[in-house]
Amino acid sequence: LLNGPEGSTAVAGLIGHPVSHSLSPRLHNAAFQAAGLDWVYVAFPVLPGAGAEAVRAAGVLGLRGLSVTMPHKAAAAAAVDELSEVAQALGSVNTVTYQHLEQGWRARGDSTDGQGFVDSLADEGVTVAGAEAVVLGAGGAARAVTLALALNQAASVTVVARDVSRASAAAALAGGAGAALGASDEGLKKALARASLVVNATPVGMAAQPGLPFGLEAHWVPKDAFLAELIYHPRRSALLGSHLARGGRGCNGLGMLWHQAARQFESWTGRPAPLQAYQRAARSAQG
Ligand code: NAP
Repeated sequence: LLNGPEGSTAVAGLIGHPVSHSLSPRLHNAAFQAAGLDWVYVAFPVLPGAGAEAVRAAGVLGLRGLSVTMPHKAAAAAAVDELSEVAQALGSVNTVTYQHLEQGWRARGDSTDGQGFVDSLADEGVTVAGAEAVVLGAGGAARAVTLALALNQAASVTVVARDVSRASAAAALAGGAGAALGASDEGLKKALARASLVVNATPVGMAAQPGLPFGLEAHWVPKDAFLAELIYHPRRSALLGSHLARGGRGCNGLGMLWHQAARQFESWTGRPAPLQAYQRAARSAQG
């Protein structure tokens, strides 16, 4: 995009509330430029309750794709014409891809967080197949990760949450490989001792919520387990920092962030994503 948008410029965007701190515009615009595409990506603040309306409005306005973030993921899932199997299972959409036809438009919803997470593990040389995984948290990100781990043949996925019924609902996404634990369950220490992959999908570790989730102690995570933190700000949560300091291997959530965006690019444009552009933009946005 050399001289700004033209009449033929394709538009994609983000709906959420709030959106002003999102890194997505930087990532996608850098990628469009790197790929030489006449596309532009814009953030739209959409008030809670208006998600479905925004998904339809974007279709009417001829947008080519949307990223969807809090609090509109469930509303977007209900508003699209068609859902991917993953989005259907999660009841949540973070990606809408529009098909514009002569007689109108159709919207397809997908959820790229889980696959983005698995892609980021592959970059770290971590194979999900056969992994004994423990997922801390049972919210939207934990559910996406749990389903992706199961689809990629993890041997077991144990979901841990304060509310065991939420943990059970998330674990059900992993079918026979899934198990649920309450945060204060005696079994947590044992499950961690057996784990080859531990994922922190709680916000505990961000500046506003310092410390370790569920009061667990860092040494409960085996040194040879891979610790995947979904938080990327700070770069090293307390849990990740202690694991690395003990000589363990792990990563933060930045790789998941840009990989899920790269999957969106592929869905919207039908082209392979410029992965290096995404990675570079994510690293420089992180500062
Ligand atoms: P969410 O839907 O609100 O879920 C948060 C989960 O964490 C819930 O299970 C919640 O438990 C639990 N939790 C919250 N506070 C806790 C505490 N003090 N102690 C123990 N558990 C606690 O949020 P989300 O969208 O899944 O996001 C979770 C984290 O992943 C956030 O840090 C987010 O920034 C990160 N994330 C990263 C990416 C990425 O691309 N890297 C993508 C998505 C999310 P209750 O149900 O008991 O409240």
